[in-house]
This record gives sequence, structure tokens and C-alpha cells, in this order.
Amino acid sequence: MHKTSGQRDPAAAFPLAVRRDDSEDRRLANRAIAVSAAGLAATGLAELLIAVLTGSVGLLGDAIHNLSDVSTSAVVFLGFRLSRRGPTERYPYGLDRAEDLAGVGIAIVIWASAAFAGFESVRKLLNHGSTAHVGIGIAGAALGIAGNQVVARYKLTTGRRIRSATLIADARHSWLDALSSAGALAGLAAVAAGQRWGDPVAGIAVTLFICHVGYEVTTDVIGRLADGVDPDVITAAESAAGDLPGVIHAHARARWTGRILRVEVEAWVDPGLTAREADALGRQAAGAIAGRVPDMGSFTWSTRAAPEGG
Ligand SMILES: [Zn+2]
Repeated sequence: MHKTSGQRDPAAAFPLAVRRDDSEDRRLANRAIAVSAAGLAATGLAELLIAVLTGSVGLLGDAIHNLSDVSTSAVVFLGFRLSRRGPTERYPYGLDRAEDLAGVGIAIVIWASAAFAGFESVRKLLNHGSTAHVGIGIAGAALGIAGNQVVARYKLTTGRRIRSATLIADARHSWLDALSSAGALAGLAAVAAGQRWGDPVAGIAVTLFICHVGYEVTTDVIGRLADGVDPDVITAAESAAGDLPGVIHAHARARWTGRILRVEVEAWVDPGLTAREADALGRQAAGAIAGRVPDMGSFTWSTRAAPEGG
């Protein structure tokens, strides 16, 4: 690899390491995720304490759910930290995939938590278990609603400001999580009204919410470990490269390593091109693809001589 120093062209280095400069947006997004995670962790821990005090399985499930969500944010942070270490001889692609690996651990913890919350709820329902200090329990569930609502608003505001689809989706998630807390509250309200089964039934409903988180985390991790990618990325890369003069045919592949989307293009080019011209074509391709695939974090270009007359 040779260095072309002093150039600001993001595609100047070859093989092309295209990195977007979105540091300010990133900083805001990271702050939103960190503040939200801290708020949710405090909410979840308070709920957990109250769950132990009251014996409410609805609250137990809701606390576990909130703490599961915090752990997924923690993994995103871990991945971000590790991915800044850069490549070494032993790990030439860097440690980007540590995030995916940690995701496997998180998925296992979430499913185990769901099993635990579900088991406790069913056991309480069958044993006609009682709930103590129902008023405090209701306050705990109200805290869960408030915590998730505040976090949802905050993520939505930041998400709209920096136009981050991920943060906006995350805000929606937190908004739905407030519903889970409302479920725990409804169960406790039923207990206050003399219906013992209210809390364990709410616990089972909340367990379904945890299963939903587990399902999302699991499919995401499996998709990444199996090198799954949005097919639109491939289409966009192939058409952007294929449209360049001199390119006869382009074949693209892409995969995520952690938070880096690596795009590889193999191009069959006019066999009359010199190596230098083929190299220049690669830079043009990098620019064209970066315009259509803004997530691209790394670009690899290889050329082959197209068959004569093809
Ligand atoms: Zn959630």
C-alpha cells in the first residue's frame, strides 16, 4: 500500500479506506445513548429493588427488560471502543467483530432472563402467591413508565436533529417499553383491587416483551455473524461502479465487521486500460459508491480485463 499524503480526497488511500467525517453527529448520538442507558439502568435497578421488596413478578420482568436494554447499549459502546484500536498483525481487520461476539453473550443473558421471569410468573400464578406493599410496587411501575418516556423523548429529539434512523427507532423502542411498565402497573392495580392473579399475569405479559428483545438481538447478531447485508447496498454499489466509463461489468460484495460496512467490488474493465487508469477508476468508483451507500466504511477494488469484444 502506498501513501498519498496531503490529499483530502477520502478515496486517496488505496486500498481505499473511506471514512465519513460525522464526528459531531456521532458525539451527539453517543451522548444520547449513554445518558439514556444511565437513566434506564437507574430505573431498572430501582424497579428490581422494589420487585424484591414487594414480590411483584410483573416489576421483576420489567426491571429485567430495562436492564437487558441497557446491556445492549453497553455492547454498542464496547464495540465502539474496541473498533478504535485499529488493525494489528494478528487481527488485520481490527477488533470490530468483538461487538458481534459480545452480542452473542447478551442474547444468551436476555433469553436466560426471560426464562427466569417467565418461570417466576408461572410459579406465582400456580401457587396463588401474594404481593406485599402494593402501593410501593405501583410507584415502581410508574417510575418505569416515566423513565422510558423521558428516554424516548430524548432519543427522538436527538435522532431528529442528527437524522439518525437508528436513534429514532430506538426512541420508538423506549416508547413501547413504557407500555411494558404500564402492563406491570395494571397487574399491580388488579392486585390492589383484590385480584391476586393480576401480578403474575402481568409478569407473563412482560416476559413476552423480554422475548421480543431477545428475538431482535438474536436475529441481528445471527445476521451479522452470517455476513448478511441489505441487498440494496449490493445493487447500489454494482450500478454505481458499472456506470463508470471503462467498466464493462461490476460485481459487488459487502459485509459488516462490527460497525464498519466493507464493500468489495470486482470490476471487468476495458482491457486497453493501463494499471494507472484502472487505479484511477477505483477512486472514482469509491466516490460514486460512497455517494449512494453512505454507510460504507471501507472499500476494496479489484480489476480484471474484460474479454476482448465482450
Ligand atoms: Zn426494551
